[in-house]
Amino acid sequence: MQLPAAEPYKIKMVEPIYLSTRTEREQWIREAKYNLFNLRSEQVYIDLLTDSGTGAMSDRQWAAIMTGDESYAGSSSYYHLKDVIKNLFGFDYFLPTHQGRAAENVLFSALVKDGDLIPGNSHFDTTKGHIEFRHAIAVDCTIQESFEPSNLHPFKGNVDIDQLKEVLDNNPIEHIPFIILTLTCNSSGGQPVSMQNIREVKALADQYNIPLLFDSARFAENAWFISQREAGYQNKTIREIVLEMSSYADGMTMSSKKDGIVNIGGFIATRRKEWYDQACTFNIMFEGFVTYGGMAGRDMNALAVGLMEATEPDYLTSRIGQVQYLGEQLSGYGITVQQPYGGHAIFVDARAFLPYVRQEEFIAQTLSIELYLEAGIRAVEVGTLMADRDPLTRENRYPKLEFMRLAIPRRVYSNLHLDVIAVALKNLYDRRLEIKLGYRITQEAPILRHFTVELEPIAM
Ligand SMILES: *Cc1c(COP(=O)(O)O)cnc(C)c1O
Repeated sequence: MQLPAAEPYKIKMVEPIYLSTRTEREQWIREAKYNLFNLRSEQVYIDLLTDSGTGAMSDRQWAAIMTGDESYAGSSSYYHLKDVIKNLFGFDYFLPTHQGRAAENVLFSALVKDGDLIPGNSHFDTTKGHIEFRHAIAVDCTIQESFEPSNLHPFKGNVDIDQLKEVLDNNPIEHIPFIILTLTCNSSGGQPVSMQNIREVKALADQYNIPLLFDSARFAENAWFISQREAGYQNKTIREIVLEMSSYADGMTMSSKKDGIVNIGGFIATRRKEWYDQACTFNIMFEGFVTYGGMAGRDMNALAVGLMEATEPDYLTSRIGQVQYLGEQLSGYGITVQQPYGGHAIFVDARAFLPYVRQEEFIAQTLSIELYLEAGIRAVEVGTLMADRDPLTRENRYPKLEFMRLAIPRRVYSNLHLDVIAVALKNLYDRRLEIKLGYRITQEAPILRHFTVELEPIAM
């Protein structure tokens, strides 16, 4: 018999969590105005709100924390991290920042101007925010298959090359400062980009003499998918794949809270000296001196170790394996989830789950609240609440798909926790037709309303 695949680590320190009663949860969610962001973390049993900054550090990372160098300039921790970035990605220049959006803020301050266009694959919200804040436009060129939840395309993060070419052909090149590729593509559900596609984007970028930037938050997970799904990569190591991926890029922005397996941090890395030189000024203004940029020395040390751990094949097989394990269980219960399963989260099709709840009553939010009431599990709505209102008409924008996202933190939960999640959803699924009424908004902010919105249940 083949041995089961267990986690490639054992537990040295534990953090107790508490399964509350349904009565307690009913009171807490009412007090939270039916917004899961308003819950205290102690009121949550299994927290799947995000995989960002929620991972567990290893004993080696904690040991590196103790040897952090807190010198203002030129700390050994900075040089330690610089070496790791050079070895993993091949980039000579690097700037630390306090998280991923700070890296965007610094680099885009140097590169993005009023009226620019930035083509890419489903830009992440903060990326899009930092583009639009500068009166530039994020042009989404993701392949059509990406928007079909049951399409089994192995690389649903890919760019549609014809569409990208059209954008480059029909716009002034001086207004396209770079093309951006998000690896894996968070907004499309943690879906990977193939090496072939990266190569094709690079060839086109070269043809038009436009630089290529990576948003690399989940670079290691992307490399793992390439090793599993793309011909010619089965005998390459994850680090070889990572190095080849970044060989096609001029630079990267990184949220270290994802595949850096640290709780806070980010960076910019590039092979272009002129990008580095321009970004330095903004880094000093917004983040800190170039050798710490908003990070403590100890945190840079932990990140250097985390980047190496995130590119270990056993770690990735276990991490992404957990996400697949949950996806398979839910599918087995007949629950419709986005396919193929992504690298960091499972997206549950809320409309298929709750056919009687009307879209204007927030289907995916209703499902997320029901899941919390059922078992103290905190998911996040990716649907009408998050899609906000049309800025002109102030009408609700109704997205094509109503998802409830279950993001799995790195190295935090065991497969038994995943079993609890699957059974809680199965129980809900069994009585889903009894759930007919959703929620109405009582209070909302003009933009990014989902973080602070207040709701009340619609009464019979
Ligand atoms: C999280 C994330 C960011 C932003 O990083 P923060 O560390 O949250 O500021 C940017 N791009 C992608 C793809 C992300 O997942």
